[in-house]
Amino acid sequence: MKKIFWCKSCLAMSTRRRITFNKSGNCNACQWKHKKDNLDWNIRESKLKALLDKHRSSDGRFDCVVPVSGGKDGSYVAHNLKNKYGMNPLCVTVTPPLQLEIGKKNIESFINSGYTLFSVNINPETMQFFNKKGFIEIGFPYYGWLTAIQTIPPSIALNFGINLIFYGEDGEVEYGGSTETADNPIYNFKYMKEIYLENQSYKSFQNIFEEACNKKLMDINLFQFPEDQNESNLEITHWSYFENWDPYRNYLVAKEFCGLVENKSVNEGTFTNFSQNDQALYALHTYLMFLKYGFGRANQDACIEIRRGALSRDQGINLVKLYDGIFPEQFLELYLDYYEMNKNDFMYVLDSWANKDILEKVNDKWVLKIEIN
Ligand SMILES: [Zn+2]
Repeated sequence: MKKIFWCKSCLAMSTRRRITFNKSGNCNACQWKHKKDNLDWNIRESKLKALLDKHRSSDGRFDCVVPVSGGKDGSYVAHNLKNKYGMNPLCVTVTPPLQLEIGKKNIESFINSGYTLFSVNINPETMQFFNKKGFIEIGFPYYGWLTAIQTIPPSIALNFGINLIFYGEDGEVEYGGSTETADNPIYNFKYMKEIYLENQSYKSFQNIFEEACNKKLMDINLFQFPEDQNESNLEITHWSYFENWDPYRNYLVAKEFCGLVENKSVNEGTFTNFSQNDQALYALHTYLMFLKYGFGRANQDACIEIRRGALSRDQGINLVKLYDGIFPEQFLELYLDYYEMNKNDFMYVLDSWANKDILEKVNDKWVLKIEIN
C-alpha cells in the first residue's frame, strides 16, 4: 500500500505495468514528453524518409500496411503516409466485437476518403470463445480481438509481399512503460507478445488456443503470428517514433480529411468523446484496468491532456475522481448477452479481478483505498 503513488507531473500510477519513475517522481512518459520538446525532429523525419524510400513501390503496388479502426490515430498515420509522403498504404482492420454505430460510420467514411481497406471479420463464434475465455481467465474482455489486431496485419503484409507495418503510437513510451523502443523504432513478434499481449497472459492464451483447437473452432490460425518473420524482411514500427505524437492533433486531421465524427456525449467512464469510441467492449476493458491497477479510462485520458498542457494536474485529479472506476452500466445487457452469462456470474468475474490491496467496496462500488493525490 505504501508503495502506491502517482506521477508528480501527470497522474500515471505506480501500479502501471513496466512504468518507471525518476528521483523527482516523474514517470517515464513525462520524461519522454520533456525529451520530445527538445528533440530534433528533423533527424527523425530523415530516418522516416529513408525507411519509406527503402520500401516505396514504383509500380502501384501496396508498399506498407497500416492497421486502422476508423479512429483518429490510424487515420492520421494513413493520411500522412499517403498524402504527405506519397506511399501506397494497404489499410487493415479487424472488425471489433460489439462494434458501435459510430465505429461503423467512421470506418466507412475513412474508406470513402480514399483508402483501400482490408477488413477481416472473424467468425463471431470463434471470436466470442477467445474473448469470453480472456475475460474470465485473463481479465481481458477482448483478448481474442487484442491478439488478432497483432497477428493479422503481419500475416496480410507477408501475403502481399509488403515489408513495412506502421502502427500509431508507442504506448509504452508515450503513456509510461517499457523504454525498449524509445531509441529503436523497429520491433518484432517477440516484443509484441511480451508487451502487447503481456507474456504471462499470452502463455495462458496458448492454453485457450489449444482448447479452441480441440473444440474444432473455425479460423483459429488467425490468432497466431506468422512464424517466419526472422526469415522475412518485415519491419514493424510506430509512427510516434518519427513525429511528435499528439492525439488531439490526430483527431483534428482525421476529422478534416477522413470524415471522422466524435460521440455526441462523453464516452463511458471518461470526460472525452473523441477516442476509442468504436466498440462497446473498450469501456469494459478500461473498467477491468481500474479493478486490476486502480486507474481507469478517465485517468488515462487525463494523463494525456495534462502532458499536452490542456489540463492542470489538479483539474485532472477532479476529473479522475468524478469519472474513474464507474461501471459502464449502459452496456451491461449487451455484455451479458455477448458472453452468455447471467448478471451474478458476470459480476463475480469482475469482483474476482479487483485488486483488494488497493481497492475496497463501498456501497457496492469499488473505490481506491487511498485517494488520488
Ligand atoms: Zn507522468
